[in-house]
Amino acid sequence: MKHLILIIEDEVAQAQILQYNLEAEGFRVLHAPHAEEGLLLVQEECPDLILLDWMLPDMAGIEVCRQIKANAETKSISVIMLTARGAEDDKVRGLGVGADDYVVKPYSIKELVARIKANLRKSGQSVTEFTYADITLNTETHRVKRGDDTVKLGPTEFKLLQVFLKRPQRVFSRAQLLDLVWGADIYVDERTVDVHVGRLRKALKSGAKSEIIRTIRSAGYSLDIEG
Ligand code: CA
Repeated sequence: MKHLILIIEDEVAQAQILQYNLEAEGFRVLHAPHAEEGLLLVQEECPDLILLDWMLPDMAGIEVCRQIKANAETKSISVIMLTARGAEDDKVRGLGVGADDYVVKPYSIKELVARIKANLRKSGQSVTEFTYADITLNTETHRVKRGDDTVKLGPTEFKLLQVFLKRPQRVFSRAQLLDLVWGADIYVDERTVDVHVGRLRKALKSGAKSEIIRTIRSAGYSLDIEG
């Protein structure tokens, strides 16, 4: 699965160059030209990492970072601040509100990509084992277990479970699951999501185990033991 990077940057030309280069590196990329849209995309699209400009027209980047890190649902997302300033006290302020890293403009794309990869590794986005409640999924061995039992899943159900395990209890809409599992550029009917969630649910429930995928009427699905 490709990592999703969100660029929050008002300088459109700069964001486009960045987007082009990051896509060439195999990332999926979204761009928000201001803070308000950026914060909305953070909630809706669950990026793996955020490149955040220090100076935005509607809100200081540092405030955007503070809000992302103050929210339990989004605080584990890596934030790299991009700034034209090299001042040491800005760096301290940025890291003080929870930014994970700091890159001074003009940066080299090569250096930025290296930092992105390092931060993804550090934040555990490159982890190979995901667990929630009694479920374990390993991306290296492709094994899924529930308690002591091995769960057999098709490739789509495996990806779907991985998406859920990255954010347990978060509600994903069918459209979000389509983007995250099938990819944004493929046309798949939303009912397909229901079919695969149904298969995943059945596989995880084998042997009279409790329901763990919650259906939220007109909103979507979540992996939730409280279900
Ligand atoms: Ca700016």
